Amino acid sequence: MSDIVQYQLQGHVGVITLNNPPVNALSVGKGLLQGILDFIKAGDHDPAVRVFLLIGGGKNFSGGADITEFGKPAVPGMATLRDLCSYMETVSKPIVAAVAGPTMGGGLELALTAHYRCCAPGAQIALPEVKLGILPGAGGTQRLPRLIGVAPALDMIVGGEPVSSERALELGIVDELVTGDLRAGAIAYAKRVAAGGRPVRRASALVAAVDGDAAAFFAAARQRVAKEWRGYPAPLECLACVEASVTMPFDKGLIFERERFTYLVATNESKALRHVFFAERAAAKVKDVPDSTPMREIRSAAVLGAGTMGGGIAMNFVNVGIPVKVLELSQEAIDKGFGIIRKNYAATVAKGRLSQAAMDQRMALLTGVTSYDELKHADIIVEAVFEEMGVKQEVFRKLDAVAKPGAILATNTSTLDIDVIAAVTSRPQDVIGLHFFSPANVMKLLEIVRGAKTAPDVIATSMKLARTIKKVGVLVGVCDGFVGNRMVHAYFREAGLLLEEGALPQQVDRVMEAFGFAMGPFRVSDLAGLDIGWAIRKRQAATRDPQQRYSKVGDLICERGRFGQKTGAGYYRYEAGDRKPIPDPEIDALIVQASKDVGIERRDIGEQEILDRCLYQLVNTGAKIVEEGIAQRASDVDIVYVYGYGFPRYRGGPMMCADLTGLDKVHARVAEFHAQHGDDWKPAALLERLAAEGGTFNG
Ligand code: NAD
Repeated sequence: MSDIVQYQLQGHVGVITLNNPPVNALSVGKGLLQGILDFIKAGDHDPAVRVFLLIGGGKNFSGGADITEFGKPAVPGMATLRDLCSYMETVSKPIVAAVAGPTMGGGLELALTAHYRCCAPGAQIALPEVKLGILPGAGGTQRLPRLIGVAPALDMIVGGEPVSSERALELGIVDELVTGDLRAGAIAYAKRVAAGGRPVRRASALVAAVDGDAAAFFAAARQRVAKEWRGYPAPLECLACVEASVTMPFDKGLIFERERFTYLVATNESKALRHVFFAERAAAKVKDVPDSTPMREIRSAAVLGAGTMGGGIAMNFVNVGIPVKVLELSQEAIDKGFGIIRKNYAATVAKGRLSQAAMDQRMALLTGVTSYDELKHADIIVEAVFEEMGVKQEVFRKLDAVAKPGAILATNTSTLDIDVIAAVTSRPQDVIGLHFFSPANVMKLLEIVRGAKTAPDVIATSMKLARTIKKVGVLVGVCDGFVGNRMVHAYFREAGLLLEEGALPQQVDRVMEAFGFAMGPFRVSDLAGLDIGWAIRKRQAATRDPQQRYSKVGDLICERGRFGQKTGAGYYRYEAGDRKPIPDPEIDALIVQASKDVGIERRDIGEQEILDRCLYQLVNTGAKIVEEGIAQRASDVDIVYVYGYGFPRYRGGPMMCADLTGLDKVHARVAEFHAQHGDDWKPAALLERLAAEGGTFNG
């Protein structure tokens, strides 16, 4: 028997300990489940055993299935979770599970198959399978509704969110909370179960019922779920399984659950979601910066600029208890910036998601300053001043003069060359880009931009900092727009060209929203404001390649003073106080005229062409980024897009989406567009090679 399950008889309690750190993943291959089954089988025949206790060896019960085993063939001689659960259904002695820490997915399904559950405080209890595009496939959808009622079970299974120990007790997921030492408390609880002569109490034998008309209840729920989870099959399948717990006997319900699970595992949506799960973990690894790299300590921070970005960046630090000095040009600018931060926190307090005391604590960690001298003790300084090279260089010269040795000097630039900024300091090894996304206190992505001379420990510390401030950090290299903005630029540009050729903004947006983006490119542009891009384009006009196609539609819209939502009009018009975009005949006419002016005969552009041209610009640009080494791996590009640009997670990011389509097909389409539209569509060498080899971006 392997060490990952241990057995000990404590009085008449057969204690089975799961011992598979770090989270007691229910590994089939390593024999964890078979081990539990064998001990239960042996104990069931042992008169000395009156009750079983299943308990985790570390801080938690079990985090669930070992997801690296997904889709792999069964291991001969090794029980699966379903085998174990169906064996537990036949056991004649009560089985108690000690729920603690993250008790998720298969871990919770195992606990639900036990007959009684005690629970440590501070547990996180969930069936999060839906987030990987699947459903609890070991009876969870059949047992939970029988145990706690249909409505709360539906919420947990469709939403996948964790509940606390206290809530689990209230719901009836667990029977008793155990304070103090869990092992001792759980053994005592198991003894009480045995002493009370309590029967085996199988969730499978209970009845799942709905108050009132079940068919109407599920019809309403189906409508709600379909709307909320547009385009994504797992939540509806979860719902169908919960419905089966009401309409089918337990055994039939299990078979139904298995069928729906098998179907979901094979869907592209589930493959994509599992890809994102692993990609996020892979992104934390830097190929040439080993985990053992020593880190610099970050106990205090400074932020330069209290504008749109600086304020949000400062919030990230104080949210996790790191004090921040915010340097501005004047006291008025500080007051203005801090006023916005205060308003932001107050809104969260008003929604009940933050206490007033916590808000006060955070505000107290912010200090506004106007003198560089105040920055000399900061462990990290993040610059978020105007996007102009001269201004940035001036700021970095001053920082170089005052910052303490070893301080990390970061810039939040969106477009400027980090190496040129670093070059004005005497310590380019300490300079790095920390590219936050707007709103910086909300958006999860942090592009960490490594300069040519950035030191490994500065990279390692920045990657760790991303986790500390609850961001997803992705390491990227220097190029215009880094990963995210370089790609979005190609995508939005293509969308602009589609307008000139025959499409309208509402049509392009509709296609991209049907694909799964929360907003299409023109709605995003109106939200972000059109004037900034216009200013950049005007600056670039002199150096623009005259051979490259250029759509003037965006400029013409700005020339009419339409800068998007902030002026009540952009690609769409907006009613006062309302963010709903309304297609505007004035813009339709402007676009038609723009086509005429450049001699393009407008044509009907089909939805597939709109989608392919927008999406494959992302993919082809992403491939160039990977082949140039700007991103470490294709999956990093996916993470940037999912966390920074609202790419639908269930499509896995642009590169995974292309993999799932087939790179031969993607390449053929890119080559077709290349022939039609010229060099903006030149296929990336990486795409060409992988398509020829039958490979994928994500290996
Ligand atoms: P902003 O105009 O809202 O804020 C800039 C602030 O910097 C102003 O409050 C200004 O008073 C202050 N400032 C200017 N020069 C300064 C100096 N020498 N010392 C101290 N403070 C100074 O601009 P923003 O949108 O917050 O952008 C700041 C930086 O962040 C830019 O580099 C920008 O490219 C980048 N960025 C912006 C976004 C975005 O969506 N707005 C996203 C990512 C990155």
